[in-house]
Amino acid sequence: MNARYDLEVRDVAKRYGEFSAVAGVSFAIAKGSFFSILGPSGCGKTTLLRMIAGFIEPDAGEILIAGKSMLGLPANRRPVNIVFQNLALFPMMSVAENIGYGLRRRGAAREEIARKVEAMLARVGLPGMGAKRVQQLSGGQQQRVAIARCLVLDPTVLLLDEPLGALDLKLREQMKVELKLLQHQIGTTFVYITHDQSEALVMSDRVAVMNRGRFEQVASPAELYRNPATAFVAGFVGEANRWQGRVVEARSGVLRVEVDGAATFNGAAATDGLSIGAQVEVFVRPEAIAVGRTPADVAGVGGESANVISGRIEGLLFNGANSRLLVATGDGGNRITAALPQAGPFADLSEGDIVAMAWPAQSTLCFPSRS
Ligand code: ADP
Ligand code: MG
Repeated sequence: MNARYDLEVRDVAKRYGEFSAVAGVSFAIAKGSFFSILGPSGCGKTTLLRMIAGFIEPDAGEILIAGKSMLGLPANRRPVNIVFQNLALFPMMSVAENIGYGLRRRGAAREEIARKVEAMLARVGLPGMGAKRVQQLSGGQQQRVAIARCLVLDPTVLLLDEPLGALDLKLREQMKVELKLLQHQIGTTFVYITHDQSEALVMSDRVAVMNRGRFEQVASPAELYRNPATAFVAGFVGEANRWQGRVVEARSGVLRVEVDGAATFNGAAATDGLSIGAQVEVFVRPEAIAVGRTPADVAGVGGESANVISGRIEGLLFNGANSRLLVATGDGGNRITAALPQAGPFADLSEGDIVAMAWPAQSTLCFPSRS
């Protein structure tokens, strides 16, 4: 079989009674890529993954792996494996027994199992650790065993259901990088589901953002961040200032938007159909906002249609390169979160200081309000 896609999902849906857990989802994943499905808890990620794996039959739609329909095939006959959040390792077995478990069930010969397990241990950075008990390993090492146990079966697609969820922050950061390198090195197609945007953005070639059983956008991490297709994506991926507003003027690609509070901003329509009077949601990323002590410090940022506004620092959230200023605008009606570059000339700004801010109209994304 020489299919172009390792996995193709077409209009797949699943209802529980009246409730649509997965409401018609379609996507295709190229061979050897890292694909993530990102969405809040309850949006349908696990249901979708379990339909791909064969634990749940869809009500409608088609699932193809390497070009072959999977419908009606039981889970154990599909060329996929799942790494679960709780890892589901066997505590009474050694590391090698855990990794060789699936091969034993397939009736592989003893020497073949030993050889494949040893090779897999080396591949996931645990050479010679086969005789250890699972409990003797760290959380990160157990994670690798869980992945090795699946990869040794040579699946066409490896499904991962929030596998880093149980790890502490530091280890999660480290495992993100490791997982990405591992996938790159072995070349197996990964489908990774998570509610954590930083996991999805760091590891993936492409990301689907899922909300209420549907995909809102499928794109590269950079594209999702720079050009969100919907207000949900703009709000869920990355950090943003967010206001409700109304379009009061529209000309030559720039919208004038009155936002709740007091300010009026120059914005850019992120979708068609935003004319005067339209209710909109407005998003501006903190790092799009240049900050200085006086308007002269930010002159030129964003050109003629820039937003330029002064305010007073109400709070300073120091977090290294991610430090943030919370600024109340001059009339006090709006609060704006701006990035504070620690390498820049204004790193010494402090609470109570007056600041000037500027950002381009193009960084002020306007979406139609849902309500
Ligand atoms: P996620 O993995 O994104 O957190 P799930 O796919 O587990 O979400 O669940 C999606 C929605 O479907 C949730 O609202 C959940 O309560 C519901 N759901 C999942 N499984 C069942 C089931 N067996 N019966 C009824 N509702 C379910
Ligand atoms: Mg889930």
